[in-house]
Amino acid sequence: MSKLYIPGPINVSKATFAAMSQPMIGHRGSEFEALYASVQPGLQQLAGTTRPAYLSTSSAWGVMEASLRNLCAKKVLTLCCGAFSDKWFEVAGKMGIAADKIQVEWGEAISPEAVRAKLEEGGFDLVTLIHNETSTGVMNDLAGIAKVVKAFPGVIFVVDSVSSFSAVPIAMDALGIDVLLAGVQKALALPPGLTVFFCSGAALERAKSLPHRGYYFDFGEFAKNAEKNNTPSTPAISLIFGLQHILGTIAEEGLEQRYARHAANNALIHTWGARHGFPNFAAAGHESVSLTCFRKPEAFDQAAFIKNLRARHGYIINGGYGKIKGLTFRISNMGNETAATMQELINAMDEVLGS
Ligand SMILES: *Cc1c(COP(=O)(O)O)cnc(C)c1O
Repeated sequence: MSKLYIPGPINVSKATFAAMSQPMIGHRGSEFEALYASVQPGLQQLAGTTRPAYLSTSSAWGVMEASLRNLCAKKVLTLCCGAFSDKWFEVAGKMGIAADKIQVEWGEAISPEAVRAKLEEGGFDLVTLIHNETSTGVMNDLAGIAKVVKAFPGVIFVVDSVSSFSAVPIAMDALGIDVLLAGVQKALALPPGLTVFFCSGAALERAKSLPHRGYYFDFGEFAKNAEKNNTPSTPAISLIFGLQHILGTIAEEGLEQRYARHAANNALIHTWGARHGFPNFAAAGHESVSLTCFRKPEAFDQAAFIKNLRARHGYIINGGYGKIKGLTFRISNMGNETAATMQELINAMDEVLGS
């Protein structure tokens, strides 16, 4: 038996799998509508919005790409600080969408002032931000960047909160975020295959004005169907059963307790890293609280460490992503982890390190 401590997909509980194995229901009927409606309040609370939650049967990239297709009429500004955010710029290119970017070194965070300077050049109608850059363990200043973007009327603001959603509070409406999206295989601790997203009125207006939005990822179709507690096409119903279960556990625990638990579990890993001399890859003050990315010390045999941890204890951590593969390693504390389960991992890592 092995257990995932990689930053997504993460470990899924037996209770979640049990909830997912309920008998199948048809999606054009009152049972499904009730299921759809039941997940709304919990998702809206996590997102800090009164807007409906849309359920896309796709991984996060489906909605990330759809955001470009639905919302960019002129030019998108992508804020690039790691593998996922850099790729958003590349995807715009693959779609033939005019794009410019702010690129910072991996490990650094996006500066709100740099965003202001770039938007002042003019010509942009869309900005994409990854709140928590999972490849580098950097959490960007969402509130600071949102404030800047909001000062530019006509600029739609899309935020990927894939690895921060439900790990930290997000205030979509208060910050003026136009599209917020999150794949469920990260902090929501579900199997992959579903993405939750929300659109502001302005985002839906923009989408309406753009031709060639297709069907499967047309935001207008999601909005129209949501009015009837439904989705444009057959959704991953089992995953929605799982989502309903997870939202129940989140309500039971309490949001503040959940956020505090993520912060405390993350601090355990930071303390462990400091004890072994592993420097944080993320710039000071911008460390994620849902995962930790460590820089590999020169003489450290990271590959053997990861291999032995898995072979001897069944724990799987990640050996770096994209161009920092092999140079960093990442440990997730998202989802259902407790101080006790993080301590089990720490004890195992200590054993492998021989200390
Ligand atoms: C995992 C991840 C994605 C990609 O999600 P897919 O489910 O592979 O489409 C995008 N953004 C962030 C921040 C992620 O952590």
